[in-house]
This record gives sequence, C-alpha cells and structure tokens, in this order.
Amino acid sequence: MAIGLYIHVPFCKSKCPYCDFYSVKVNNELVEGWFLAVLRNLEHYGGKYGKIPINTVYFGGGTPSLVPEEMLHGILKKADEVFGFENPEISLEANPCSVDLDKLKNLKAAGFNRISFGVQSLDENELKFLGRLHNSKEAILAIENAALAGFENISADIMLGIAGQTENSLYKTISDLAKLPVVHISAYMLKIEKGTPFDCQQIKLCVPDDDKTAELYLFAVKVLEDLGFRQYEISNFAKNTFECRHNLHYWRCEEYIGIGPGAHSFFDGKRFAAKPSLDDFIKNPFQSKEITDSSPAGFEEFAMLGIRLLQGLDLEFCEKKYGIDAKKILQKCNILEKNGLVKVCGKKISLTAKGCLLSNSIIATLFIDFQ
Ligand code: SF4
Repeated sequence: MAIGLYIHVPFCKSKCPYCDFYSVKVNNELVEGWFLAVLRNLEHYGGKYGKIPINTVYFGGGTPSLVPEEMLHGILKKADEVFGFENPEISLEANPCSVDLDKLKNLKAAGFNRISFGVQSLDENELKFLGRLHNSKEAILAIENAALAGFENISADIMLGIAGQTENSLYKTISDLAKLPVVHISAYMLKIEKGTPFDCQQIKLCVPDDDKTAELYLFAVKVLEDLGFRQYEISNFAKNTFECRHNLHYWRCEEYIGIGPGAHSFFDGKRFAAKPSLDDFIKNPFQSKEITDSSPAGFEEFAMLGIRLLQGLDLEFCEKKYGIDAKKILQKCNILEKNGLVKVCGKKISLTAKGCLLSNSIIATLFIDFQ
C-alpha cells in the first residue's frame, strides 16, 4: 500500500509569538546543510527498505517556501528515485510573502500540485496581533499568483479566537477567500502554547474566551458549508474532492515517513520521532529516532483518529478488524446523541459540529480504556 512522505522544513524568517513548532531563523548555510541531510536520509530509507510507493508528499514547517525551489525539486527527484511516486499529491506550506509568481511557476514545474498558504486572517488588525509578516493584500496576491502559475489545489489556513475577532470579521475573511481560487480551508483555534510570548496574562485577557471561540467555530462551520466548503474533518473543509490526501493518511492510521528535525513517522509498524534539533539532523549521517509507540494502530488509536473524520467511524469494520463489541460503544453513544454531540447511523458514528468542539472528551468517553 502506498504511504505518505513528510519533510519537515525547520526555517522561518522570524518567530510568530503564538507558535511552538520547531523552527530556527533561516540562513543559507543551514538550509544547505538541511538539504543535504534530507537527501542522505532519503537514500538511507531507500537503501534499507527498497522501493516504497509514495502517493503523498507534504513539505511542512516552519516555512517551506523559504527553501530555494531547486532544492525542493532536488528532494522530490531523490524521493521519486529511491521510493517511486504513484500519482502523488505534492503539497508545500507557504507564507504569502515568501512566494512571487516566478517562484510559484518554478514550484509547479518542479512537481508541486498543492499549495497551502498560512493566511490566518484577512483582517489587518488580526494579522498584526498574530505578528504575521504578511498583510491581507499580499495573501490575496499570493493566492491569485498560485492560480496563475497553474495550481488548482490551493488551501488556506485561517485562525479562530484572535483578539478582536468578531463574526463579522470572520465572515469577511472566509467570504473573501471563497471568492478566490481556494478549494480547501483549514480553520484552527488559537491555542496559547506554554513558553511562547503569547503565554502571558496580557494576551490571555484580550483573546476571546473558550465560549466565544466555540461560537466562532460553529459560525465558521456554517459559513464555510454555505459557501461550498464541505467539512470532512474537525478543522478541515474542502470543495469537491479536494480533501488533503496526505493528512488523510494520518487520520486513517496509515503509514508515513517523516524526515527532518522533530518529524514524526509511523512506519514499519512503529511510531517514532526525530530529535527536534537542526544541528543533530545536519551532523548525523541519519536522523536519530526515538520510538514513541512500538505497537501502534490498535483499536483505540484507530478510533481516536478516525472519529475526527466527518464521514464517521464504522464500528462494523472495527468489530471485524479489532474484535471489539460495537454494542458497548453504541450504548455509550445514546446520551451523546441525545445531547446533539454525535450522530449514529446503523453502526456508524460521527461527530456533529457541536461534538467537534468536545472531541477530546467524547473520545475519552467512548474509546479510552475501552474494554
Ligand atoms: S511562520 Fe508558521 S512555523 Fe514559522 S513561526 Fe510563524 S506560525 Fe510558526
């Protein structure tokens, strides 16, 4: 079965104050060292495991669009050579102000067929609050340029729960994106991560509280659906068939290889993570691995990931594959269904929009320590 390939690009121009992803300030020497290390690791996997069909490649970060397109192309060529691509979706995360039309054309020519812009908002004050480097005009221009360069699969990330965000400003961001050639939107809630500059009283006091953020989420779900973006996962919405195939590997509990500092993998029957250190990644012949789960993909994990997908979790399939008793789960669903948190259709259960907001506790109720 074909698997996914994730390449972690740990570079940013500057650090956004809410972000706790692993990244360092970009510089040419480090990018060169990272590039060579990615090639070494691809060869290592190819040498050890032989051809592994790859049907999705995802460059995430960090800011992958800061890497010169010749290097990105070189990585794709190497990956195809050692593994073998099978009709791959090839995605790049991009910051709107780090790509121009020429770069986008080069990326398209290199084989990228999906681009995901970290737009976050089209409201200037909200963008300033987030400390983003781009403004709304640059975000719109980047999306238009991507379409001009030939990208049909364009995604935009937006954020919910920004200081000063209202239903009106959120509606404007979403409806303006819907007028552009965007076919996929990811809507994430701002989370104050420990140890980031946002982790302070001043910020906590000015962002919407949990109830208000929940209202913004439900509002976003409705607006997105009205504008033709079908919700297919808790935070993801797509037109037609433009779901992110790479992320579907994660939610379906399918295997993928992650390369780069801090990258996670689920491969060869194990989950493991590379050390989140660029220095370590560049200096070592192959990325160091720390096993995070040596016997993954049991029922609990399959269910916890699968219920995130709005198509629902098929308990009949789980009965056959994991030998669980679906009746026990369906009984627990009764009260959740009465409260409008889950939908039950035969032996299939799925989250409602309200249930998506409480997904962690629903997952804990239904699947943790499942006997
Ligand atoms: S550009 Fe993205 S990865 Fe880099 S600091 Fe900002 S949010 Fe984090």
